[in-house]
Amino acid sequence: DRQERLQKAIAKSGFTSRRKAEKLITDGRVKVNNEKVTELGTKVGPNDQIEVDGIPLEKEEPVYFLLYKPRGVISSVSDDRGRKVVGDLISDEIDQRLFPVGRLDYDTSGLILLTNDGEFSQKLIHPSYKINKVYVAKIKGIPSKEEINLLKKGVEHDGEYLKCVSSRILKTDFKKQKSIIELTLQEGKNRQVRRMLESLGYQVEKLKRERFGPLNLGNLNPGEYRELTPHEVKQFS
Ligand code: URA
Repeated sequence: DRQERLQKAIAKSGFTSRRKAEKLITDGRVKVNNEKVTELGTKVGPNDQIEVDGIPLEKEEPVYFLLYKPRGVISSVSDDRGRKVVGDLISDEIDQRLFPVGRLDYDTSGLILLTNDGEFSQKLIHPSYKINKVYVAKIKGIPSKEEINLLKKGVEHDGEYLKCVSSRILKTDFKKQKSIIELTLQEGKNRQVRRMLESLGYQVEKLKRERFGPLNLGNLNPGEYRELTPHEVKQFS
């Protein structure tokens, strides 16, 4: 049957995350078929009318995009300082309100997913859902192999323990004293790659995310995007 939990139905509509939907329910802000529901896990079907604060939930089609984020763009829905955000890069013809799955720093470029599917997004960024994310960093200096290997054991930065699942040196330029390092992370702590390399004393000059799970940038250019195929979406479920 097509019954599902109320908080899941709310998250799926793109309205908010499942966690926040749970709070809306327990706060008494949700009605189903015109009756207030405060019980988490109440089952609803496609014909039930859900309202939040008296406003019917729109049943949005879930959409999923893969964006090559350029540097100098914020990965959030809006910015209070009026800077460009990732949603601005997606065509005006898409009316769904899209939000990014996780974050990339303002100065980081690379692969980021955008969707209106709150449940999908929450699942993918949850630490228990271990997705490999591959980053390529250009750093100042020439680290040794041993130093770069340390990153797999874990390093401490500002009292936080940070580690990656693999790390390697892709290139060294002795003349310019720069190196290209590849790190694969399953975690996604704030500025994690930059902080890990800084903990060894190396400054990151450029950072790009090349892969997110099974997805890569393919032949997209910065600022370009494409829709995920249904098969690609399914790979994450
Ligand atoms: N690590 C960082 O330091 N920055 C990012 O944007 C992503 C991972």
